[in-house]
Amino acid sequence: MPSTELVIGIDVGGTEIKAGVMRGAEVIYTERFPTGRENGADHAVNQVLLAASSLHQTFPEAAAIGVVVPGVVDAVNGIAIYSENIYFDHVPFKQLVHDLTGKPVAFGHDVRAGGVAETMYGAGKGYKNSFFMMIGTGIAGAVIIEGVLLDSPYGGEVGHMDVASGLPCACGLTGCLESISTGPSIAREYNKRADANFLGGREVLEASLSGDLVATEVWNSAVKAIGQVLTATVNLLAPEIIILGGGLSKAGSHLVDPIDQYIDSHLTFQPRPKIVLAKLGDSSGMIGAGIFALRALG
Ligand SMILES: [Zn+2]
Repeated sequence: MPSTELVIGIDVGGTEIKAGVMRGAEVIYTERFPTGRENGADHAVNQVLLAASSLHQTFPEAAAIGVVVPGVVDAVNGIAIYSENIYFDHVPFKQLVHDLTGKPVAFGHDVRAGGVAETMYGAGKGYKNSFFMMIGTGIAGAVIIEGVLLDSPYGGEVGHMDVASGLPCACGLTGCLESISTGPSIAREYNKRADANFLGGREVLEASLSGDLVATEVWNSAVKAIGQVLTATVNLLAPEIIILGGGLSKAGSHLVDPIDQYIDSHLTFQPRPKIVLAKLGDSSGMIGAGIFALRALG
């Protein structure tokens, strides 16, 4: 793999598009564009193409372009099948970006790209078997076994594993991990019990740390549910390392330590994975898109 090649990575989020130019792990240029999803999916698609052509014009020597998006992704054919956030409906991004720039284009899923980036260059460097869990407004995972990413369109959807929360999930079911452990769902549960108006998990954690018992209960339930899903993941995949990313991972040891303890107390003969925080922050998807771009070069 020619890691000395300059590549463009584009990570399409619900609010903004992070685009960058990199050589291996070294990011040499970044630019952000508003996704503008409030103006509809066509506008968001045009914003992605604007990002691609803008960076392509600034760095014509870039060898390939990687684009990653949320939702259901067909990486092989380069199609954004479905996105709840940005309303993508079978958008052939790989073809569109190739037609626009003439460069080889790789396409993939944002969280799986983040998992690859964290495993190659971030918190999981040196490990071949890792599980990356992104906990933000949603929850998804990336599975890497013997250095190879599980890249099927529906792989890693741990946010919809049943933790018997009794709460409704955006997917239509009841009891999913996302119904209890995302930032917004932690806030929602606290607001319901305490008649408050918190916006995210961070406020609930802060209240808990200052002695609010309801906040502590809500936080602990959210973290325990994550521990349950990760314990199931350990039994199924035996990762050497579990990397926690996304907005909720800013809770640091308040997230990692109780999850570590939960997993430890629910394993007996199995080897314990290391539980760590992601290192690349919100650049992981963009850097992963760059890694995918390199792979498009063959
Ligand atoms: Zn669900």
